[in-house]
Amino acid sequence: MNLVIFGPPGAGKGTQSDNLVKEFNLVKISTGELLRNEIKNKTPLGVKIQTIIDEGSFVSDNIINNLIQNVLTNKNYLNRLIFDGYPRNINQAKNFDLLLKKNNQKISCVLCLNVKEEIIVKRISGRQICSKCGSIFNKFFNKATEKNHLCGSSYLVSRSDDNKKTISRRLTTYDKETFPIIKYYGDQNLLKEVDGNQEIDQITEEIRQIIDSLET
Ligand code: AMP
Repeated sequence: MNLVIFGPPGAGKGTQSDNLVKEFNLVKISTGELLRNEIKNKTPLGVKIQTIIDEGSFVSDNIINNLIQNVLTNKNYLNRLIFDGYPRNINQAKNFDLLLKKNNQKISCVLCLNVKEEIIVKRISGRQICSKCGSIFNKFFNKATEKNHLCGSSYLVSRSDDNKKTISRRLTTYDKETFPIIKYYGDQNLLKEVDGNQEIDQITEEIRQIIDSLET
C-alpha cells in the first residue's frame, strides 16, 4: 500500500503520517523534512534552497523529482510508502504517475485532510519539532512531555518558515498551486476526504477505517 497525505500547511499531515508509519509499518517520505535535513547538514543543495524555504516558495520540480526517484527505486520501501507534502502541484503529480509506473508501483489512496483556517493558524503557531529525533509536537494540542518525548525539551525548536509572513505566503501558494491536485486525484477515484478538524487520535481513527476499507 502506498498513500499520499494531502492538505494545507499545518493540516496535521506530518503528525498523522507518523501515526500511520507506526501502525501500518510504512515509511514516511516528507519532502519538506528531506529538504530541511539538507539545510541542517549544510549540503550544497541545502545552501541553495534555504532562502526559498524561508520565503515560503516552492523548491524546483527538478530537485523534488530527483528526491522522489531515489525513494521509488529503493527496494526496501516497495509498496509501503506514505508521501507527506508531495506532490505539490499538477506537474509533480503527473511526473509522480510516470515514476510510479516505471517502478511498477501505484497509489492506493490520497487522504485529503480538510481543516478550518483558524485551526491551521493555531497548529502552525504552536508547532514544535525535535531537532534530534524529528518528532512533531504542539504547544496547544500535543505537548511534549517526559513520557512521550525522551530527547528532552532542549531539542524542541520552531520551524524557520512557521512565522506569520511566511505562513501567509505558504497558504496562498497552496491555494494556487496545490489545491487543484484534488480534482486530478478525484478524477482518478483515489481521493478520500478526512475531517482534519478533530483531535489527533480521532483523525487517525477515521484514516484507519478508510485504510481498512481499502484492504477488504
Ligand atoms: P513542508 O514541511 O511540507 O511544510 O514543506 C516545507 C517547505 O519545503 C515548503 O514550504 C517548500 O518550500 C518546500 N517543499 C516541500 N515539499 C515540496 C514540494 N513537493 N515541492 C516544492 N517545494 C516543497
